[in-house]
Amino acid sequence: MGKPTGFMEYPKKSVPYRSAIQRLGDFDEIFTEPHEDQLKIQGVRCMDCGVPFCMADTGCPVDNLIPEWNDLVYQGRWHEALDRLHETNNFPEFTGRTCPAPCEGACVLGITDPAVTIKNIENAIIDRGFAEGWVRHDPPNVRTGKKIAIVGSGPAGLAAADQLNKAGHQVTVYERDDRIGGLLMYGIPNMKLDKDVVNRRVDLMRGAGIEFVTDADVGRNVDPMKLVADFDALLLATGATMPRNLPLPGRQLKGVHFAMDFLTPNTKSLLNSNLADGKYISAKDKHVIVIGGGDTGTDCIGTAMRHRCRSMVNLELLVEPPEERPADNPWPQWPLIWRSEYGHEEARAQFGNDPRQYSVLTKEFVDDGKGAVSALRVVAVEWTKNDGNLKMTEIPASERLLKADLVLVAMGFLGPESYLADALDIQRDERSNYLAEHGKFITNIPGVFTAGDCRRGQSLVVWGINEGRGAARVIDEYLQGSSTLPAPAISMGSSAG
Ligand SMILES: Cc1cc2nc3c(=O)[nH]c(=O)nc-3n(C[C@H](O)[C@H](O)[C@H](O)COP(=O)(O)OP(=O)(O)OC[C@H]3O[C@@H](n4cnc5c(N)ncnc54)[C@H](O)[C@@H]3O)c2cc1C
Ligand code: SF4
Repeated sequence: MGKPTGFMEYPKKSVPYRSAIQRLGDFDEIFTEPHEDQLKIQGVRCMDCGVPFCMADTGCPVDNLIPEWNDLVYQGRWHEALDRLHETNNFPEFTGRTCPAPCEGACVLGITDPAVTIKNIENAIIDRGFAEGWVRHDPPNVRTGKKIAIVGSGPAGLAAADQLNKAGHQVTVYERDDRIGGLLMYGIPNMKLDKDVVNRRVDLMRGAGIEFVTDADVGRNVDPMKLVADFDALLLATGATMPRNLPLPGRQLKGVHFAMDFLTPNTKSLLNSNLADGKYISAKDKHVIVIGGGDTGTDCIGTAMRHRCRSMVNLELLVEPPEERPADNPWPQWPLIWRSEYGHEEARAQFGNDPRQYSVLTKEFVDDGKGAVSALRVVAVEWTKNDGNLKMTEIPASERLLKADLVLVAMGFLGPESYLADALDIQRDERSNYLAEHGKFITNIPGVFTAGDCRRGQSLVVWGINEGRGAARVIDEYLQGSSTLPAPAISMGSSAG
């Protein structure tokens, strides 16, 4: 530990984003370059607390060795910090940019002071590693002769592929989209995770011997039974791609879309033609309403803002969260508090007010008389606690119309699509996810495993990596009898996601 009194001497200073107005002019990443000296000082705020909750249970889902690399950064030993980081996390450049950082919610310093800027330090270590040419994926020295097929190339599929390749197995990843990366490529927008950052890692993995097959929709144009027959093990990492609908009067109207029908084509068009091909839903000059918060809602706001929408409203059914942790949400749990994400800041900078309206229930999508949406009919609701259960009541005479030409439904996801599970006869749980226990990852079909959002439900990139790494170890054991691959934490945690 570099400096025992660091946490008392230095205040928290996060790496800032570019100014909201400036970044609205492009789809480039929102982050600024960190200053090395500043990060060293932030690293020394880590207080050697004895039991680092940041990397346990409710903290980091991949057990990142946070105090160790904080100290190495303080000492300027960046290469060693990178090696330590890669021991537990295959893709720190993804988590360093996108993770909500449950580690910081569990940081011991956070009990009395602002937590250590763990995520910023993680990102700086990996970016430095790439800049210096230290990041490598070497082919394994020995091949086992075993073949594994992975369906889905999101963080879960990629982490599993990387680990299994390191163990010497021949891995082929099948992806139905035209590019590799899952939601890293076609969910999270470019301004939060530049797609060159995704491609850079995939290229290294390809160089290490992993095969990637795109436009391969397993269960539609690739026979899953053939994969079962041709490979020694099959891992399903297909994500939770079924959106939750809002089946109200007027849902069929023109201008009402699921969030992913807005976000995915936008990134595709951005990458293919810098948005010149017009193959995306434009929010330009439109009154936009995003229904639902979370990462998906924020990304819809950020994208529509960059299209230059005319107005932006974000509707939340739940009550506005408190500024401070409530008594029933103590440290080290993930703090359920009010936050301002990048999209909210941008809407505030452009239009002068926060786009979010809380405790609002949508009742109808209103027709303009020509089959397009013109407004939402909404009512205010009140939430009360009854025997520990939350109860929602509509407030009488609170009905109003909100003008809208584009409505984006961002209300979460219901699990994986059914066609692949049906084709393989995979059992599902009560939430329609592929049924398998965390830590075991085996389905009801021998030799068929599952990991990531299709198993646990919509979650986080870092949980995808946790599951991919865990499934890789289990598959390695299944094929070899034992495994030297690391086993990530098997706790479900109570952290974000
Ligand atoms: C808009 C949005 C923003 C998000 N932002 C964040 C964020 O900022 N931070 C964060 O931590 N998490 C975020 N998340 C959540 C995070 O992206 C997911 O939890 C994570 O990507 C899940 O990883 P996965 O590998 O399980 O699945 P996915 O990333 O969903 O990948 C699954 C892949 O499987 C492919 N596939 C599906 N079926 C088939 C088939 N039959 N054949 C072939 N391929 C198939 C899909 O095309 C997809 O590429 C966000 C999610 C969304 C939707
Ligand atoms: S992966 Fe997420 S939780 Fe883990 S150290 Fe990085 S920011 Fe924190």
